[in-house]
Amino acid sequence: EHAVVLFTQDLRLHDHPALTAALRDGRRVLPVFVLDPVLLGRSARNRVRALPGILRGLRGDLRARGGDLVVRRGDTAAEVAALAAEAGARSVHLTEGVSRAAVRREERLRAVGLRVVSHPGLTVVPPGDVTPAGGDHYKVFTPYLRAWEAHPWRAVLPAPGAVPVPGGVDPGEIPARLDEGRGQAAERPITLGEEAARRRLRAWLDGGLAHYAQRHDDLPAGATSHLSADLRMGCLSALEAATLARDEPGGAEFVRQLAWRDFHHQVTAAFPDIAVRDYRPRGTRWRDDPAALEAWKEGRTGVPIVDAGMRQLLSEGFMHNRTRMITAAFLTRTLGIDWRAGAGHFADHLLDGDVANNHGNWQWVAGTGNDTRPNRAFNPLRQARRFDPEGVYVRRYVPELAGLPGRAAHTPWDSLPPGADYPPPIASPGT
Ligand code: FAD
Repeated sequence: EHAVVLFTQDLRLHDHPALTAALRDGRRVLPVFVLDPVLLGRSARNRVRALPGILRGLRGDLRARGGDLVVRRGDTAAEVAALAAEAGARSVHLTEGVSRAAVRREERLRAVGLRVVSHPGLTVVPPGDVTPAGGDHYKVFTPYLRAWEAHPWRAVLPAPGAVPVPGGVDPGEIPARLDEGRGQAAERPITLGEEAARRRLRAWLDGGLAHYAQRHDDLPAGATSHLSADLRMGCLSALEAATLARDEPGGAEFVRQLAWRDFHHQVTAAFPDIAVRDYRPRGTRWRDDPAALEAWKEGRTGVPIVDAGMRQLLSEGFMHNRTRMITAAFLTRTLGIDWRAGAGHFADHLLDGDVANNHGNWQWVAGTGNDTRPNRAFNPLRQARRFDPEGVYVRRYVPELAGLPGRAAHTPWDSLPPGADYPPPIASPGT
């Protein structure tokens, strides 16, 4: 019997347990990707625009193995059901997801009569594999990390050598361009796809990783891996990245970040309301201030480090982790605006945006999630002086401040001439 492999957040051939399992016993498999307009419409335009290139690469790699990638546009369950009937398959293998959309997708595939077999592959340690005594998931990171570190990892799987497909199914066209979804398009997004991801991982292991512990907070250097979008689209397996990095100098610190990623995924798996539920003590209210929210989104708050981060997001579809924290804290703690408005804006623009990591981190910064340690207060000006001491990062993204030397870029209210095209701070930037 043939099988369908439905690609979702796992757009790769290396370390793909669902594909490997489907191919077992010499079966023929039909690799499928469905462009589902409902999901595309809710996604960030930046991620949607990256899809054709990623899919072309995947199709090329499957063709080189005697296979193909079948692409359809429409409702996922309906399209997969039709293709399974055409190919004479009853089973669908896929990588287990944690988002509401992923859970619903599985339910709908079952509802149309398919046998759904889900596999690990999204995280290093599958959500649910480590659980606290008496609970279904960890709410706080440190005990999770301890359990996570003691848990064995499965072996990384090689890309299959051959992918035999059932004959007679029209592969369908990959659109040359897709331009739908939310948010505005970045001018300078990185190139995604399995080949690019593997090249980026290789360069990271050979170069930046060794200095990661010392330099990950250096804003102008941007000396982090930039693998987050590859992991988000599944062009790279988190387990493979962790396995290759683990024993290298700097590896422990990097693997710890991947444990954060796993942590947020296991929270989301156990607690799919993460994206919407707000856990502030009763009686505390978010402030409604559309003008301030708009200024924050556009990077025109008058606080340079905040504006630089927000503009990096718009121009690259990426933001450094340090400025993600600074900008999120500025919105929620300084301006008192609901974290969900900020998380939505991030989700609409980040190439790496996903419910688990984005909403999990926003809740963490806003202090509303599971782990409600009070007031992670961030003083933007102090943060700016510490992590961008010469103002290089700020001047890179806020050209209005290009004329201010060194750290003066962080305090334009002291030195910018009157009439300059940069606003005064909309709230206290700290001292
Ligand atoms: P590196 O520093 O090289 O880290 C390696 C990998 O570890 C990352 O690619 C990522 O997969 C993982 N990682 C690192 N830090 C975290 C973290 N705090 N939580 C979860 N995983 C982490 N990350 C996303 O992948 N998607 C998001 O939507 C997202 N939204 C965020 C929102 C806020 C408010 C904050 C504070 C952080 C958010 N992060 C998110 C986490 C982190 O900022 C990014 O993963 C990181 O900046 C990506 O850059 P990098 O790949 O160079 O990271």
